Amino acid sequence: MSRILIIEDEDKIARFIELELSHEGYETAKAADGRSGLAEAEKGGYDLIILDIMLPELNGIEVLRRLRRESDVPVILLTARDSVTDKVTGLDMGANDYITKPFAIEELLARIRVILRSSEARSGRAGAKEDLLEAGGISLNPDSHEVTYQGEPVELTNREFILLRILLENRGVAMTREKLLSEAWGYDYYGETNIIDVYVRYIRQKTADDVIKTIRGVGYMIG
Ligand code: CA
Repeated sequence: MSRILIIEDEDKIARFIELELSHEGYETAKAADGRSGLAEAEKGGYDLIILDIMLPELNGIEVLRRLRRESDVPVILLTARDSVTDKVTGLDMGANDYITKPFAIEELLARIRVILRSSEARSGRAGAKEDLLEAGGISLNPDSHEVTYQGEPVELTNREFILLRILLENRGVAMTREKLLSEAWGYDYYGETNIIDVYVRYIRQKTADDVIKTIRGVGYMIG
């Protein structure tokens, strides 16, 4: 069953799309602003994302820009107005398609089917090969969320997982606590950067002390 994430702040529209999609047999989830939508999308596990452009917190274009740094999940943009700029920017940013509000649900469903068919064909061709992030004995699968250390499975909480993933993605780069915080959770703790120290400690306890290096005066680094 395909999983679809709906990022839309207008509750009526979001619920309407959700109802129609579940009626068609899709599994759905919703987010009502850009920030939580991005966080949900980054967890992975979605086959397609329906992304409104006009969103509070982060607009849809910004959500797409950040999402595309790490994910090629298909995205259909919803544009409230007939703005050519939004559409062009959206497609440039890697949206797969867009649809202008108000739209007929049948049109949205048809576009979803087209995109899911082509992405299924693509993943079939690519085989089951997954992009593992690896360094220092750690192996992390961004899709399945499986983590191993020296071949043994490691159970991480969601936050530990995200932090480890960011460090691995930036392998060889010393990351400040501020940078890690904003990359990991996308919002400010206003000075509570020591929360990063806490999660680093947890990850070390579950793996080994030297998996994450402390860079004095800067922050942390892997590799
Ligand atoms: Ca909106």
